[in-house]
Amino acid sequence: MAEQKKKTIVSADSDEKLKNAKTVKPAKPVGNASGLRVGAVILWVVAIAFEVLALLVLLGKINIHIGSSLVQLIIFLVLDLICVIIGAQLWKKANHIQPASEKNKFKFWLWNNMGVVVCAFAFIPFIILLLTNKNVDKKTKTVALIAALVALVIGGAASYDWNPISVEEQTAAEAVFGEEQVVWAPFGKVYHIVDYDAAGEPVYCSSLNQSDTLTIGTVDQAIAAGRTRLCSFCAKRHNIEGLKTEE
Ligand SMILES: [Zn+2]
Repeated sequence: MAEQKKKTIVSADSDEKLKNAKTVKPAKPVGNASGLRVGAVILWVVAIAFEVLALLVLLGKINIHIGSSLVQLIIFLVLDLICVIIGAQLWKKANHIQPASEKNKFKFWLWNNMGVVVCAFAFIPFIILLLTNKNVDKKTKTVALIAALVALVIGGAASYDWNPISVEEQTAAEAVFGEEQVVWAPFGKVYHIVDYDAAGEPVYCSSLNQSDTLTIGTVDQAIAAGRTRLCSFCAKRHNIEGLKTEE
């Protein structure tokens, strides 16, 4: 589509033009939800494998000869954490492409936050075995416990879907916008409606004044990019009701 080409806002006033010049780039394709889910599950299995390796080091069953056993423990916990976090990002992305139904609130929460559940499985068994193991010296126990707890909190927060969307909300947004192009800023969780002036030039929502770079795409692409809410100013301007909005 023509709107997808790079363009800047043209205004009568050249100073204004400079001030409002924006780079508008087309959104990436929404991607493949199934592929992302497979990637997430593989990473989560690897994460649990790293937890098992950390446990084997703790129990003195393996030694990879890098530093002390405490160092090895921490290495495995960090690798565990990295896989937990990347897996959860893929999973959340898949949920923004192919959202779950919110008819059953518990299932909706669980599906969206599968990463948090995996994070619990990736660290809590280690923590329990660490606390109940009598053969581990005090220093190792303390440091490993702190490391595992910190990893649990960081992994949980990074895996939680702070910006969930349901298939009902996605369908409602598609019903309003269809293939119409919406626009969004590099950060945040809202998308905006593009207006056009008499000359056919795009006019962007005033809340985008601070953003030099915008992305334009369909509402499905906006949601896939984590922009799950319609800007409340845009909703008011166009009298759109029934969609979740946010400033
Ligand atoms: Zn707006």
